[in-house]
Amino acid sequence: MIIQLAPTGMIPSRGDTPNVPITPEEIAKDTNEAYRLGASVVHLHARDGEGRPTYLKEVYGNIISLIREKCPNIIICVSTSGRMDMDIGHRSEVLSLRPDMASLMMGHVNFSINPSINTMDTIRRLACAMNDRGIKPELEIFEPGFINTAKYLARKGYLKTPLHFNLLLGSLGDMPADFRDLAYLVESLPPGSTWSAAGIGRFQTQITAAAILMGGHVRTGIEDSIYYNYETRELATNKGLVERAVRMAHELGRDIATPAEAREILGLERKAQK
Ligand code: ZN
Repeated sequence: MIIQLAPTGMIPSRGDTPNVPITPEEIAKDTNEAYRLGASVVHLHARDGEGRPTYLKEVYGNIISLIREKCPNIIICVSTSGRMDMDIGHRSEVLSLRPDMASLMMGHVNFSINPSINTMDTIRRLACAMNDRGIKPELEIFEPGFINTAKYLARKGYLKTPLHFNLLLGSLGDMPADFRDLAYLVESLPPGSTWSAAGIGRFQTQITAAAILMGGHVRTGIEDSIYYNYETRELATNKGLVERAVRMAHELGRDIATPAEAREILGLERKAQK
C-alpha cells in the first residue's frame, strides 16, 4: 500500500494551524519525517514569502531539491491546481521541473472558499504538457462524472493507460464520504487502474480505513485535514497523520510500499533526478 503525504495544500494558514509547513525547508522536513515512516509519494503545493499559494517554479524547484536531497527516490507529485489562478501558463510552469507526477483535475468543484474551474480545453492542454515531459498524471476525482471524463480522454489518446486516480471525498460540493460512495467510485474505474483515496476534514480517518480495507492506496496530510481528531479539534501534524495511516494499515494486514515498490505499482519508468 502506497502512502502519499499532502503536507501543505493551498488553504491551511498559520492562523489555522501552527503545524502547516509553508517554507521549502519546513515542507522538506515534514516530508522527510513522513518518508522515514513509510510515505513514498509527496503531493506538493508551493507558498510565497507571505504564505500565499504560488505557481513559481523557482519556489517549487527549491522544495523539490531539498526533498530529493533528504528522501532518495521519493515520488514527487506537484499540483497544477487552478483554484487560485486559472492561467494555463502559470499552472503548467512547474512541469518544466520534470517531477514524476502531477495532479490533473478532471472537472469543476464548488469548494466553499473558491471554485476550481477546469474546462475540457484546460484539461487537454495540461495532459499534453505532462505527456510531452514524461510526467504521469494523478487524476483528481471529486465525483463520478470526473471518471467519465478520464475514460473519454483515455479513449481519445490524451491520457495513457493504466491510469492512476486520486479519489477525494467529503468536501462541500463533492462526493460524500460514506463507504458506499468510495465503493461506487472504485467500481467505476477502468480495469487495470490504480487508485488512492483521501477523506477531507472530518472524513479523513474513515476513508483511510475504507481504502486500506478495499486494497487501495492512501493519501493523508494537513492539506486534507488540519485536525487529528475532528471531534476534539486536536490539531494534526503531518507526522501524526502518517503514523496513524501506517498503524491502521499494519493492524489491517497491509504492507507499506517503499518508493521503489511504489514506482513499480504506478508504472513510473524514470528514476528520480537529482
Ligand atoms: Zn493539492
